[in-house]
Amino acid sequence: MKTDAAVVAQEVSKPVLPLVGGKCRCGYVFFPMQTFGCEMCGRNGDDLMPVTLSGRGQVVSKAVVHIHADPKRPPPFAVAIVELEEGPQIRALLADPPDVSAEPGDVVTARLFPSNYSDSESRLDVGFARNAPKE
Ligand SMILES: [Zn+2]
Repeated sequence: MKTDAAVVAQEVSKPVLPLVGGKCRCGYVFFPMQTFGCEMCGRNGDDLMPVTLSGRGQVVSKAVVHIHADPKRPPPFAVAIVELEEGPQIRALLADPPDVSAEPGDVVTARLFPSNYSDSESRLDVGFARNAPKE
C-alpha cells in the first residue's frame, strides 16, 4: 500500500493534466464548462458542450501573493493569467515557489502540485508549471 507521500509524488510527476472546458455551437471555447450561456452569442443549455482542453498554455501575467487567509496555502505563492492553447484566458495558481515558477511568456502545462511544499501530506492543487514533456 502506498503512503500518502508516495501518492502525492505520483500525482505531481504526471506531466499534463487535461482540463474540462466547454465549446459553444458558435465555436467559442471557454473554461470551466458551464451551461448558463455563451459569452459571445448568448446560446445556452445543449448548445454548450463539454470539451477536453489540452492543459497547455502561455503565461500572460504573474503576481506573487504575500498574505493569504487559508493556513493550508502558506504564502508566498504565485498566481497568473494563463492563455490556454484553445483560446480562453484563465486565472490560475503557478506550481513551484514564486522565485522559480513560470514567468510571463513561458509555455506551461496544468499539473497537480502540493499546496504546501514543506508538508509531505499536503493536499494537491491544480496549477501550471513550465517544462513538461510533450505527450
Ligand atoms: Zn456562442
